[in-house]
Amino acid sequence: MVRAVVGANWGDEGKGKITDMLAEKADIVIRFQGGANAGHTIVNNYGKFALHTLPSGVFHQNIMNIIGNGMALDIPKLFKEIKDIESKGVPSPQLMISDRAQVVMPYHIAFDEYEEERLGKASFGSTKSGIAPFYSDKYAKIGIQVCELFDDDVLNERLDKILVLKNSILQNLYKKPLLKKEELLSTLHEYRDMVKPYVGDVSLYLHDALREGKDILLEGQLGTMKDTDHGIYPMVTSSSTLAAYGAVGAGIPPYEIKEIVAVTKAYSSAVGAGDFVSEIDDEDVADELRKRGGDGGEYGATTGRPRRMGWYDCVASKYGCRLQGATEVVLTVLDVLGYLDEIPVCTAYEIDGEKTENFPVTPLLHKAKPVYETLPGWKCDIRGIKKFDDLPENCRKYIKFIEYHLGYPITMISNGPGREDIILR
Ligand code: GDP
Repeated sequence: MVRAVVGANWGDEGKGKITDMLAEKADIVIRFQGGANAGHTIVNNYGKFALHTLPSGVFHQNIMNIIGNGMALDIPKLFKEIKDIESKGVPSPQLMISDRAQVVMPYHIAFDEYEEERLGKASFGSTKSGIAPFYSDKYAKIGIQVCELFDDDVLNERLDKILVLKNSILQNLYKKPLLKKEELLSTLHEYRDMVKPYVGDVSLYLHDALREGKDILLEGQLGTMKDTDHGIYPMVTSSSTLAAYGAVGAGIPPYEIKEIVAVTKAYSSAVGAGDFVSEIDDEDVADELRKRGGDGGEYGATTGRPRRMGWYDCVASKYGCRLQGATEVVLTVLDVLGYLDEIPVCTAYEIDGEKTENFPVTPLLHKAKPVYETLPGWKCDIRGIKKFDDLPENCRKYIKFIEYHLGYPITMISNGPGREDIILR
């Protein structure tokens, strides 16, 4: 059986914790898209970790963790992360890297930086992990697959093509130092030696695993609003963040994905530029929520940047769940709202004087104004509560209100960062 854990919002919904929790019951955990440009925060018996590249199953010794073909594989970052968790006492994880995954090159990261520098004020707010240049090259067919690291003839030929293009841009547009073939080749040889023990035919491995009745978890990164096609284009990421893409990015049949767990946070946060309808205008109010948010504040797990803060947005989240194809929803970080007297919830947008509950395309989103309904707060700490019926009445009302507007069942409520802080309904 295949289950996907994906984000219904802008990312940072707390997927890491939910994946870590659900991983306990899985045999295999796979990252199927994205790269080291976002972090999953996990708090467990070993400590607190921000994973960027490793699948969240690495804390369970009997789980096979897989880097799927759909990922942007940053090899030095992957191995740094493995060393990092091992240095904190986590036993060496089981790891498999798809022979069809492509490699993030140092020049992808450099081009990401150069382009943001060139755009100046109009920049995307990229994490400069090389993701957009990486995926551009992949689809322009000048990327390098892991399997190709083992064939010097292929590498030589590919690098010749790459150098012509990249060096022309470096010279004429960015006015930066040019790439040298020998250096790139030696980097690729280093990468080859690092990944060698882990490379495998992932789709075949998964095919056999499914036949044997194994449980597979697809681990999504970011959320619906960042999906290249269905997100807030062009303020999106360069790979699909949808559960559907899990089939492509892991190499399994789409009909095998039986459960889609969409994760949504009890308030909103976003990073980078772009329209954010339910953003909190009052800087003091936003700052208070930012400081109390998540586990130690709403600051980027990869960049440390303060996140933009907003109230819960039913319009965006309903759309987020719909595009994910949610079979169930997890509402996270609900404990954080316990200090508020009243909690605004965005239930509709007003666009050109008309009210809508349907999430629009980007040019219309730019004109959207939030329509709020305000709910009473519960004014207490709900951490430690294990049963839905034991939650304060106003807290239950908040959950049911959101569930009604989403139109998808909220089956789990997360009321703290730890594995055990979960309420099953
Ligand atoms: P992800 O990218 O979706 O995994 O999200 P992040 O890990 O970047 O952000 C979630 C943050 O919230 C992390 O610091 C988590 O430890 C924390 N977190 C997750 N669930 C809860 C929760 O229910 N309550 C609180 N207070 N923090 C949570």
